[in-house]
Amino acid sequence: MTAKDQLAGYVALQRLLDRRGALRKERDTPPEALAALRTQFSERHDKLEAARTRRAALLSEQATVQGEAEALREEREHFRKQKSQVTNMKQLSAVVSELDHVEMQLKAKEDRLLEIMQGLEAAEGEIASLGEESPEEKALREEAEAAWNEVRAASEVELGEIERDLRVVQRQLGEPAMTRFKKLWTSRKPMAVVPMEGNACSACHGDLRPSLVQLVRTAEELQFCDHCRRLLYDPEQFPPSSQ
Ligand SMILES: [Zn+2]
Repeated sequence: MTAKDQLAGYVALQRLLDRRGALRKERDTPPEALAALRTQFSERHDKLEAARTRRAALLSEQATVQGEAEALREEREHFRKQKSQVTNMKQLSAVVSELDHVEMQLKAKEDRLLEIMQGLEAAEGEIASLGEESPEEKALREEAEAAWNEVRAASEVELGEIERDLRVVQRQLGEPAMTRFKKLWTSRKPMAVVPMEGNACSACHGDLRPSLVQLVRTAEELQFCDHCRRLLYDPEQFPPSSQ
């Protein structure tokens, strides 16, 4: 294999890897409009879920506290009856003290019930104002999702083609040339094989010696940028359409 053939293979690999990187990025980055719709949907969904969870917890607490208040009212009735039946001051003061205690507990439960009612009203209000996604919003979001799925599916198809092309070029280059490329790629990715730009390196923009420019043009040997050590090629000899 001539140095020029090897260089052609390396240029092809670099271009395929560039395209693969761009496609993967495209595939993994939903369009901004869709991302905004998703965020809007999930934020509202999360807020609704939080309000519903809060309402459920308050309803459950309400049932418990109502039961406790009911038990305290019964206890209060019991002590009130006892109070009417006391026969001496000692008994009276004991019953009054019990009654006070029950009243205090009951007051706390009733205060809590009021807070729960207010919390429930707030949660209900939030649930009503957030509402569910409207049919128009849902259609818009699903349309955007479907369009995005198509884009991704197309990316996947092209990625498959690129993987196949990569294997073809790898086979053509052979083991030793591939080992060399991998070494270069590992140290210089994602740009290992770069075109000259006039008399400069297009990657680091360092000026190239006239003799080096000449050597790159003749392509009889692999030539590297003096500054960044990337493999150089003449873009006129390897136009993108030549692949
Ligand atoms: Zn350079």
